[in-house]
Amino acid sequence: MKEKVLVSACLLGIKVRFDGKSKANEELIEKLNNYEFIPVCPEVWGGLPTPRVPSEIINDKVINKDGIDVTDNYMRGAMETLELARKFNIKKAILKSKSPSCGKGKIYDGSFTGTLVDGNGITTRLLIENGIEVLTEDEFLGGL
Ligand code: SF4
Repeated sequence: MKEKVLVSACLLGIKVRFDGKSKANEELIEKLNNYEFIPVCPEVWGGLPTPRVPSEIINDKVINKDGIDVTDNYMRGAMETLELARKFNIKKAILKSKSPSCGKGKIYDGSFTGTLVDGNGITTRLLIENGIEVLTEDEFLGGL
């Protein structure tokens, strides 16, 4: 039986990113033939439009570039993603690196200057807290 995983929808070529584009990763898509996977997009599931104003995490709040606090949207999307993982008994997620939702290990620092700091996105945090393994696309492709 194939292992079930959640995957960030933008990595599959679905145009759900803040800029209305995707971040298709062909190598990842190829490897996913060996898995059962469910696409997720916590930002859209949290009620945000596409395209949308980009956001970054500042002091545990998610603030968009216009200064609007969108933490509730990010939390909602994270909870929907966790709910889906539970429903289908999924224990692993491959999520887009550096995103304020999906990032793992490194995220942008809240200054909107492209500066990375150590940290996890909101969905990644919730999944890890609930025992779900999260890998970035590079970790997954690197065989971790
Ligand atoms: Fe991709 Fe995650 Fe951002 Fe959705 S929330 S566009 S899946 S990185």
